[in-house]
Amino acid sequence: MKKIMIDLDETIVMDGYLKAVNDYKHTNYKAEDIDTYFVEDILEPEEKEKFLDYFYEKLNIYEDIKVLPNAIKVIEELSKHYDVYICTAFVDKRRPLDSKVMAMYKYEWIIKNMPFIDPKKIILTGSKDVIMCDIKIDDKVGNLENGYGEVKLLLDHRHNQNYDFEKLNSLGIRRVYNWDAIRDILLEGCE
Ligand SMILES: [Mg+2]
Repeated sequence: MKKIMIDLDETIVMDGYLKAVNDYKHTNYKAEDIDTYFVEDILEPEEKEKFLDYFYEKLNIYEDIKVLPNAIKVIEELSKHYDVYICTAFVDKRRPLDSKVMAMYKYEWIIKNMPFIDPKKIILTGSKDVIMCDIKIDDKVGNLENGYGEVKLLLDHRHNQNYDFEKLNSLGIRRVYNWDAIRDILLEGCE
């Protein structure tokens, strides 16, 4: 069976960090308003530190987080034909100790919402780029552009718009817009 590595944030779940910033600032930013990879980078440096205190002390964004349409259903289908790993980074270099809670929150969310995933196939890391597998699905080009993986699918996202078709093609990466497209690519011909 081929191994697939699937990212969690903005690949399976979405807008958790956006909601956290909106709740903190009492704003109503939408995903399309943000073009930085880290939503909190829209905050001024001093405010960002206060936000990070609040984020790590008070919040579990996974308690109430949106899921991309059909993501869980398609991943369950994929798990019948592929060896599926969920691989998610939890280390925040700005707050190495505080960010330990993210490993717990992410692990809990995956266990509760994707019971068909073998818990041993949940990879919580800080170095996603060194992990080898046949197929990778992520919203961050940096996690896809290393030499590993014969199929690399990039979930379309505001922050990755600066990569055009030619650039992605040269990296062996294909842009996809939703989980139905992923199903079409990876399950075509599967019973
Ligand atoms: Mg991601």
